[in-house]
Amino acid sequence: MSGCVALVLAGGSGSRFGGPTPKQYLDLAGRPILAHTLAAFAAHPGVDAVRAVIRAEDRAAYDRATSGLDLLDPVIGGAERQESARLGLESLAAMAPDRVLIHDAARPFVDAGTISRTIAALDDMPAAVPALPLADTLKRSDDGRMVAATVDRGRLWRVQTPQGFRYAEILAAHRAAAGRVLTDDAAVAEEADLAVALVTGSDDNFKITTEDDLARARRLVTGAAETRIGQGFDVHGFVAGDHVMLCGVRIPHERALFGHSDADAGLHAATDAILGAIGAGDIGVHFPPSDPRWKGAPSDRFLAHAAGLVAALGGEIVNLDITLICEAPRIGPHRAAMVARVAEIIGLAPARISVKATTTEGLGFAGRGEGIAAQAVASVRMPFPAAGDAG
Ligand code: MG
Repeated sequence: MSGCVALVLAGGSGSRFGGPTPKQYLDLAGRPILAHTLAAFAAHPGVDAVRAVIRAEDRAAYDRATSGLDLLDPVIGGAERQESARLGLESLAAMAPDRVLIHDAARPFVDAGTISRTIAALDDMPAAVPALPLADTLKRSDDGRMVAATVDRGRLWRVQTPQGFRYAEILAAHRAAAGRVLTDDAAVAEEADLAVALVTGSDDNFKITTEDDLARARRLVTGAAETRIGQGFDVHGFVAGDHVMLCGVRIPHERALFGHSDADAGLHAATDAILGAIGAGDIGVHFPPSDPRWKGAPSDRFLAHAAGLVAALGGEIVNLDITLICEAPRIGPHRAAMVARVAEIIGLAPARISVKATTTEGLGFAGRGEGIAAQAVASVRMPFPAAGDAG
């Protein structure tokens, strides 16, 4: 292919925050840090494909983190960051993109401008890195207590990621550097005598390393956002059968629900609630009942698609509240499984999902046992101002 692939290095095992979870899987406004990072590249028009490099033991966490995102399959990295970068590059050999961006998973606030500038610099240069000048005066100290000298900062730059490279050149450079430990991928390029250009980075594109960084990230994610609400409603009628699907859980029952897909009214209402929050039409627009592809389709696809649209807009689902309205089957025994399944489909913590049930005291179609209704409310945090606001 020609084009540009983003490699996100998520192979680190470190959490300096005490817990066993690697920091790239820690929660940031309802989604793992890694999900924010990957979504930023997946949403960028100059990036054709995105691949994460992960640890084998993180595969389940990765799958939960990335539900709904359109990504290449992850590859397993090595013991060191540099080895992970090289293995990621090797994994693209058959694809042979023109350009590759290599990015730290723990920089979730990479902005579209930084990505664009890095890619554009590769028109003329084999390598480019986003960088910022130093605002603080630099001192050198030999013992950590006393100033030995003031360092001229005029020619010093702080370098971030994504670092961009022409693919063939950086792959060759990484192969040549294997076994020698270098600071970053640009250093690997420098060792191979590739010219590395500086482009303007962004202060918000910081690496989450300390507890303070995580607190700053949480402030940032809520500071530049607005909360939206959407609601959904759906009904399916009973026909002969032996089970129903509700909120992604199969429940044995003496009737079945009739519909073009699997007739999961709970997931349909949830899907419409999320679509409503982002003004993206309704489930029928995205999955027309006239389309044979959706006949008998499991409705988790619809919900995952809606969650993916939110992520592609740079937003995130805050919480989702679903109410099932029926006399039977009894929902209570299945509620925990429903919450867990919905949480899995949209990649959100189960504490942010609610499934409730009520009857209508025997009144109306639900009360007469003719069908099941479901309603849902979704809250979605979106960047502010959002794409489209200007129009
Ligand atoms: Mg429906």
